[in-house]
Amino acid sequence: MGPSDRASGVLPSAILFDMDDTIFDHSLTSRAALRELRFAEPVLRRRTLTEVWHEYGRLLEAVHPDVLAGRITVDRSRSERFRRLAEFCGGQISEREGEDLSRRYRARYRTLRRPVPGAPELLRRLHGRAVIGIVTNNQVAEQEEKLVTFGLRDLVDLLVVSEGVGVAKPDPEIFRIALERANAAPEDAVMLGDSWALDVLGARSAGIRAVWFNRFRLPNPDPHNVREVHSLRPTVSVERALAFPRSGLRTVRKAPSHRS
Ligand SMILES: [Mg+2]
Repeated sequence: MGPSDRASGVLPSAILFDMDDTIFDHSLTSRAALRELRFAEPVLRRRTLTEVWHEYGRLLEAVHPDVLAGRITVDRSRSERFRRLAEFCGGQISEREGEDLSRRYRARYRTLRRPVPGAPELLRRLHGRAVIGIVTNNQVAEQEEKLVTFGLRDLVDLLVVSEGVGVAKPDPEIFRIALERANAAPEDAVMLGDSWALDVLGARSAGIRAVWFNRFRLPNPDPHNVREVHSLRPTVSVERALAFPRSGLRTVRKAPSHRS
């Protein structure tokens, strides 16, 4: 590590990460899988790839509470998602066709999936210097498997998944569970995530400072209070953002002293 690689500042005892689109590149993997699926599915070509991609993401978020509450099975939610996606494109497909599309999508997704660029290096850099946790809304087995696949499981000290704890972000309770497992106070932790609503507002409602992973450079709703990073590279810059802010950094300058 050269002098320019050294981040100034002190790290909190617990560093929490979101998983999907923070460590694991769900968005761009999903986009790539949908792009391939569209070649074979005329109905999905009635809208642009970007429209289909955004709607797919929206449907995924929209149905999660029902899966979590057991109102719908995971398999059913998958076929239903494609049935509604086809409907969004102006087509009608049967439940069976929805299942088929879902199966083919998942196969492509598994082949194409990858971590967010810089995420493995960042976890390696921070490992052993703070308790590293992941707080995520999803299925336990799925999230475990992603970490194992990318060789990241040993770099993560605790994995808090909504399915496992029965509560989902942005509920502050899921963050409290993570803090308890990390044995850290809220003010001695930081959360990094891509979702303003789930990660930033969720963490702050539990008293945890949040750093926004604003990968697609959206407008920051609260730029004076929430630091943001646009990329996980270089990792030294992300480490600086995660470290405790020096008092008065950026916003307040010390008034000139009148003592003489
Ligand atoms: Mg996310």
